[in-house]
Amino acid sequence: MSAERGRATPLGVHDPGLRIAMLAPPWIPVPPLGYGGVEAVVSLLTEELVARGHDVTLFAAPGSHSSARVHTLLDSAHPQTIGLALHESDHVALALEAIDEAAAGGAPFDVIHDHSGFVALAMASRVDVPMVHTMHGLLVDGSTGFYRRHGHKARLVAISGSQRATAPANVHVAAVVPNPIAVEHWPFEAHKDDYLLWIGRMDPTKGPHRAIEAARLAGRPLVLAGPVQTSDQADYFSECVAPHIDGQRVRYVGEVRGAPEKQLYARAAALLMPIRWNEPFGMVMVEALACGTPVIAFAEGAATEIVVDGVNGMIVEDEAGMARAIAHIAEIDPAGCRESVRARYAPAITAAGYEAVYDLAAGPSPVRCSPRNDDR
Ligand code: UDP
Repeated sequence: MSAERGRATPLGVHDPGLRIAMLAPPWIPVPPLGYGGVEAVVSLLTEELVARGHDVTLFAAPGSHSSARVHTLLDSAHPQTIGLALHESDHVALALEAIDEAAAGGAPFDVIHDHSGFVALAMASRVDVPMVHTMHGLLVDGSTGFYRRHGHKARLVAISGSQRATAPANVHVAAVVPNPIAVEHWPFEAHKDDYLLWIGRMDPTKGPHRAIEAARLAGRPLVLAGPVQTSDQADYFSECVAPHIDGQRVRYVGEVRGAPEKQLYARAAALLMPIRWNEPFGMVMVEALACGTPVIAFAEGAATEIVVDGVNGMIVEDEAGMARAIAHIAEIDPAGCRESVRARYAPAITAAGYEAVYDLAAGPSPVRCSPRNDDR
């Protein structure tokens, strides 16, 4: 059993587990204090892999904490410059040097699991350790060409079926491994307040302005939460979101974290996901569901996999459909919402999915024990 890795089995056989270099992005500490979907995933996965007996070193932004060995590389985290090549290349180059040094010191890693962006995958063929690369972003335009040119250098993992479906034909995706949620870390609340919640990056694809319109049509108060990270987001926020904030029907509470964030999720009547992009996963949906809060989402990306229409929320086409769904949201059972993510997105499911890909990447090739005449 993979859960026994790293421990003596009842027959005394020792499965040593893998030495894993977990390469987080350089922008935000692991786990994140506030915004940080990828960092939340890396944290849960790392904790689960350590519990399953693997020897994990987490290369991550300063301020990171884990029961794995933590190796920070840059002087500080960079939450205001997400995507800047300067920091990504610096972080990845230093991590690869440390990975080379581990091999030179006689303790090589079995596999690198990369979540850091693009630099590590592009350089993967220059490194002796096999790489598994999780595609956390969108497979469009520039990135499809990138994956066509560099995807063969690692085992690629998609985080939803819909993301995999958008992979270019000649890009091999080794597996779909869903992101995890530890349901017990989130408070369950069966009795909801009147407000609707939108939470995320202040980006037009995420649609806070559409949430405002849907809530207005439904005649319900809306709480908006999330950071404004870039100058594009600042322009969008001031033009399309800020004019509607009145502190009553539409409240903006900024970036939230910790217990207040969890209460905001748990007490909301519903999470609104009026997305207009192929959302690869969407951690906010599983977080809301873990709190027993139903999700009303547009039929885009992984929303149609996470939201089971009529069971843990509703799938709608547009703002008017969202307003109609809001009127019926109390018919969705909060306990059913929590149950809908408990098993499907358990960290053990994610870890087992990645163990299978690590085995594929790291070998050794399976031991074959065939009768001699099979060789003829
Ligand atoms: N988040 C947060 N505080 C905020 C807004 C977002 O902690 O004010 C977290 C949220 O809980 C989730 C993550 O940021 O874990 C966003 O991840 P998601 O996959 O939904 O979005 P993306 O990675 O596309 O921005």
